Amino acid sequence: MNNLNLRKIMEEKEINTYNIWHPFSNLQKNYFNQLVINEGEGIYVYDNNKKCYIDACSGLWNMSLGYNNTRINNYIKKQLDKLPFCSLFEHTNSTVVLAANKILDLLPRYMNKLMFTCSGSESNDLAIKCIREYWHILGQPNKNTIISFNKSYHGTYYGSMSISGITQRENKGYNPLLSQIVMKEVPSDLYSNEDNKVYMQKLVSYIEEYHHQIAGIIIEPILTSSGMEIVPCEYINEINELCQKYNILVATDEVALGFYRTGKAFYFYNTQLKPDLVCMAKGINAGYLPLGAVAFSDKVIEVYKNNKSFLSHGSTQAGNLLACSAVIGALEEYKEQNIQRNVENVSTYLLKQLKEKLVYHSNVKSVRGVGLLISIDLVNASDHDKTLEEVRIAHIQNVLAEEGLLVYRSMIGLLLFPILTITIEEADKITKIIENVFHNYIF
Ligand code: PMP
Repeated sequence: MNNLNLRKIMEEKEINTYNIWHPFSNLQKNYFNQLVINEGEGIYVYDNNKKCYIDACSGLWNMSLGYNNTRINNYIKKQLDKLPFCSLFEHTNSTVVLAANKILDLLPRYMNKLMFTCSGSESNDLAIKCIREYWHILGQPNKNTIISFNKSYHGTYYGSMSISGITQRENKGYNPLLSQIVMKEVPSDLYSNEDNKVYMQKLVSYIEEYHHQIAGIIIEPILTSSGMEIVPCEYINEINELCQKYNILVATDEVALGFYRTGKAFYFYNTQLKPDLVCMAKGINAGYLPLGAVAFSDKVIEVYKNNKSFLSHGSTQAGNLLACSAVIGALEEYKEQNIQRNVENVSTYLLKQLKEKLVYHSNVKSVRGVGLLISIDLVNASDHDKTLEEVRIAHIQNVLAEEGLLVYRSMIGLLLFPILTITIEEADKITKIIENVFHNYIF
């Protein structure tokens, strides 16, 4: 297929006939193969023609236990019959307390308090506010700079956008963003050792010079939206040490990685990171209802407590009882199904299979994975230094969908976020579809 035809097919998909303004969509043209998905069961979703797809995106990385999970459904139904909502501004509720307890049980012992939010974006906004407020309470209002990573993504609210490297680069019409945010290049598995040393040295020098102004750092340890760039653990450990040394708060964004996506309950357990704040969402209740949360260390809580200060945050719907009942169901499922072990076993197998089947292909640069988060990095067949054009990656995504597999598109290739319950047989099905599609084409 020549370039022009391809572009025509992809770009002429008019979507402005629908009444929904889809997130991040261009009303004139869209690369997405918009499906009407109306049903789901296990790892499968079905469109309006009853065509079946394996959902290797886990919805939008959140439906980690798949669709129509009986236990989660029952928890939600029971709660619905009992009480759907309780204002946490004024009261409390046993479902909310139990959900919070269950999440805190997965976190380090020095984290004993959690605030619910409505989304990952809100969790990161709350983290920014808390980090700044902490130093304000301690009488150091000028210690308000937040460091974040160049290729990070933290969400779409003004705070979370401001700390998102991806958003900052785009310089959109909604600027200005928050001030006192400093973006830093960070080492990753996609750079050479020499480059990584340079980036780290620059970060170290910056922190050493300006630490008295730096309130906190927000770490996205795998820069997932940028294309799954993995910050090597030794660098995360080094950043952690620096932050301890210079009294800089550390928040880690576990929105995409938390709740067993990479094996352990939270990704930071693979490192020596001792976060003061953990931001979460997505897998918190396996995507069944909107919910996020931030967990706080005792160190942070003590400052608020001792100074009789209150945390300036809260939204009406955060901690909705149905969403919290789904947390209880999801966490029971993660535990009883031993999801951690399943992720460790199936991910090793799936990654090996995909590598074996794709390594020869002239569009495939590499296949990388951390748990059930796998990137197929794509390049031009004739120039391996060039990432495959977005329109071509979108085309592959569409062909895979036609063959019954939904995958996510990143800036450098395809991302797989399979549902965490997948079996070896289901992993084989995923590999087979990808293998067939790549076998038939050079893109
Ligand atoms: N942080 C990270 C690391 C994310 O991947 C995302 C969503 N992709 C967010 C924050 C934002 O979460 P939400 O879409 O729930 O606001």
